[in-house]
Amino acid sequence: MQSEINQTTGPFTAPAVSEAGRILADGTAVLSVRNLKKVYQADGGPMEAVRNLTFDLRPGELVCLVGPSGSGKTTLLKCISGLMAPTDGEVLLDGAKVTGPPKKMAVVVQEYGRSLFPWMRVRENVELPLRNQRMPKAERDRLVDEALEAVGLSHVPLSYPWQLSGGMQQRVAIARAVAYRPEVLLMDEPFAAVDAQTRADLEDLIRTVWRKLGVTVLFVTHDIDESVYLGERVIILSSSPTVVQEDLIIDLPADRDQLNTRALPRFTELRHHVYEQIQRAKAGHRPAAAAH
Ligand code: ADP
Ligand code: MG
Repeated sequence: MQSEINQTTGPFTAPAVSEAGRILADGTAVLSVRNLKKVYQADGGPMEAVRNLTFDLRPGELVCLVGPSGSGKTTLLKCISGLMAPTDGEVLLDGAKVTGPPKKMAVVVQEYGRSLFPWMRVRENVELPLRNQRMPKAERDRLVDEALEAVGLSHVPLSYPWQLSGGMQQRVAIARAVAYRPEVLLMDEPFAAVDAQTRADLEDLIRTVWRKLGVTVLFVTHDIDESVYLGERVIILSSSPTVVQEDLIIDLPADRDQLNTRALPRFTELRHHVYEQIQRAKAGHRPAAAAH
């Protein structure tokens, strides 16, 4: 089955295809997407945004999902986070079907400006989701302090979001997700609206936080370089109607940094491979296993 998915071989060692792109037989998946399909009812009639997506995430994995704009990445995340029901198929979290927003998930979106409350200080924004949890105030304070520390914002707890740069605002949103200690962290193109330097810093922040907390991360992006730099695995989506084009293992060292990792020949090879796959997807190629 793997050979049907991974059909491209470049002038280098072809990246290994992850078995988790299929179905994990050992029952260890924390998140399972099964034959997920989404058809929108648009003005011009039904619009099939997502055709058929199936993949598993193991506990503690950092997986990037990359696909062209309009390939249904946000649609998929809305279904995974229980904000929208799929037309067909299902999402399982720890084996239980997702039917509404699960408590164990946190989501960070691109529009940090809309996810923070302008009348609340940084600290209060980060603390917000913890207020509904029964825990002593001291414990809540500790989680907020640790999260602010983790994202490098310990010095501005009393600022308002609008007093901060875009990159710092997104750090607040990440701190809020971190303080909540989710089992699964979903991120939808979280750095698409910040400048390149800030983006590089935030990418490193995500890997640091991920390694520290051991949280399972599904990071969605249209940026090929970003997906390879960040991910331990990259799931490549076709264009809409969307299927999994390929599911790759990123065999770069765990310690990554912007200068050295991006200069590695293997980084270039992997980026080339992902780029090629996306071009194939755009040209209408569909992996045989998921073509229907
Ligand atoms: P991505 O996040 O990969 O850019 P989206 O999930 O936002 O893609 O959209 C996938 C496709 O579904 C696009 O063609 C988009 O126009 C369409 N779409 C998204 N949301 C809706 C909606 N609420 N109603 C109708 N079509 C939608
Ligand atoms: Mg989107």
